[in-house]
Amino acid sequence: MRMWMVAPRILCRKHLLGEHVEIHMLVGTMKKGHSLKGYIANNLIEPWAIIQRHNDLANEMINRGYRHLSPISSMQVNTLLMSYPYELKDVRVDVRASTFELFRRCNECSNRH
Ligand SMILES: [Zn+2]
Ligand SMILES: [Zn+2]
Repeated sequence: MRMWMVAPRILCRKHLLGEHVEIHMLVGTMKKGHSLKGYIANNLIEPWAIIQRHNDLANEMINRGYRHLSPISSMQVNTLLMSYPYELKDVRVDVRASTFELFRRCNECSNRH
């Protein structure tokens, strides 16, 4: 699971839909109470950005005419975030590194830039 955190318009269809699904999976992981430490150590997620990021991706999907049928409850996500025994507020994705990695992997995203 990975939050790329680049401007949503840059993402190709695959990566836009992929990051959106992975945000829902991340919330599922949190509902199960699983650790986020591995994702944080690998700089893959930004927990306190989940709601905003989900909604930004969903809006981009709608703008492109894709269907979005999976709202996310900010109250539920905030409650889950606060239930973690370690501080998540300062966890940020390094967007420069993430952009570099995305463009390395995907010509389509790179070409949209
Ligand atoms: Zn959704
Ligand atoms: Zn892509």
